[in-house]
Amino acid sequence: MKVSQLFTKTSKTAPADEVSKNAQLLIRAGYVNKEMAGVYDYLPLGKIVLGKIMDVIREEMNGVGGSEISLTALQQKDTWEASGRWSDDVMDVWFKTRLANGTELGLAPTHEEPLTKLMKGFISSYKDLPVYPYQFQIKFRNELRSKSGLMRGREFWMKDLYSFSRNQEEHDAFYEKISEAYARVYSRLGLGAITYKTFASGGSFAKYSHEFQTLSPVGEDKIYVHEGKKIAINEEVYNDEVLADLGVSRNELVERTAVEVGNIFTLGTKFSDALDLNYTDEAGKSKRVFMGSYGIGPSRVMGLIAEHFADDKGLVWPENVAPFTVYLVRIGGEAAVAHADELYDEMTSKGIEVLYDDRDERPGAKFADSELMGIPYRVTVSDRLLEAERYEYTPRASGVTESLTRGQLLAKLG
Ligand code: ATP
Ligand code: MG
Repeated sequence: MKVSQLFTKTSKTAPADEVSKNAQLLIRAGYVNKEMAGVYDYLPLGKIVLGKIMDVIREEMNGVGGSEISLTALQQKDTWEASGRWSDDVMDVWFKTRLANGTELGLAPTHEEPLTKLMKGFISSYKDLPVYPYQFQIKFRNELRSKSGLMRGREFWMKDLYSFSRNQEEHDAFYEKISEAYARVYSRLGLGAITYKTFASGGSFAKYSHEFQTLSPVGEDKIYVHEGKKIAINEEVYNDEVLADLGVSRNELVERTAVEVGNIFTLGTKFSDALDLNYTDEAGKSKRVFMGSYGIGPSRVMGLIAEHFADDKGLVWPENVAPFTVYLVRIGGEAAVAHADELYDEMTSKGIEVLYDDRDERPGAKFADSELMGIPYRVTVSDRLLEAERYEYTPRASGVTESLTRGQLLAKLG
């Protein structure tokens, strides 16, 4: 892509009412626009990053047998009344609206109820199980506070997968499998070293559920980390229990602040009881379907990555989520222009993702933009460099410039 095609512009300042560092940087670099507190638009660069995060998650969900769907955001009151979650006292984050005829509707805060109801049309026999539908869907939650930028939206993206299994045993095997897939997601996103599988309370059908918590000074959650075992315990479990069955003792745990980037939960028959979702087993007996739910917040993850890797010059994306791999800067007259055009074509044809700064701007402005945008590698073409048959190559993370021949440059990026 060429910078001249990007309609967004970078800015030296963020909106005065934006207090979070992730949103400040993402707004300044033109990735997102702030509509209101907790509500952000994704602009071209932001849409690419969000898409790359989703692609990693999608691959891992498909890898454990998931099938992608897309459910509606408008939801029926009756469906939610069946589980008792329509009431604002039970679900305190509801956004609700009405049809012209007065019928009340909800704006999806999550999708257990509508999906359980939908699956009644497709599950009747043991032969129909297990199944793992999932989606990337906007959720609406009237969060009380929204000062963490993309990390706590009132309208935000969620990946939600739901498992429908014959029994607890089949469920437990899948729960382990998806737990491993979650660990792979965070490590592929560059967060593996600081993300902990965290024991949380489990509800009626399992002693524990699990949160995936990423250490961050701006996290809203407190967790207790066991460095040696690479696990953690959330505050609720820490306060409520003797921790013997987890094989850890209180004095081995270190208190840290963290962000919940995902969670996995055994629902059991809570929703199949409420919405009457059954199957007939091998012996012809009717049984409840055994369920689980598995969330990840791609927009929260994007905010977290933005904030975690940033430095005083701006964003620093890990390579696999960066919107482009190379920021190509051209400086100088006709020769530099022709040469940069040609290098852009060659890199693009080799499959290298390049953002080409084809504007007639000062070099300083171009460098500052490439740093603010956090593109992993900057490549500079100038009249002076051309005379020496060299290119400047500057990794964003180190900021250290190397002078390379064309062959060396293409080898590095290939
Ligand atoms: P939290 O305790 O942070 O409010 P939650 O327990 O309400 O999270 P879930 O309902 O389990 O979260 O949602 C699944 C995932 O969606 C979470 O693990 C998180 O990554 C993401 N998520 C939840 N709420 C938000 C939000 N307001 N903005 C962005 N992402 C969110
Ligand atoms: Mg919540």
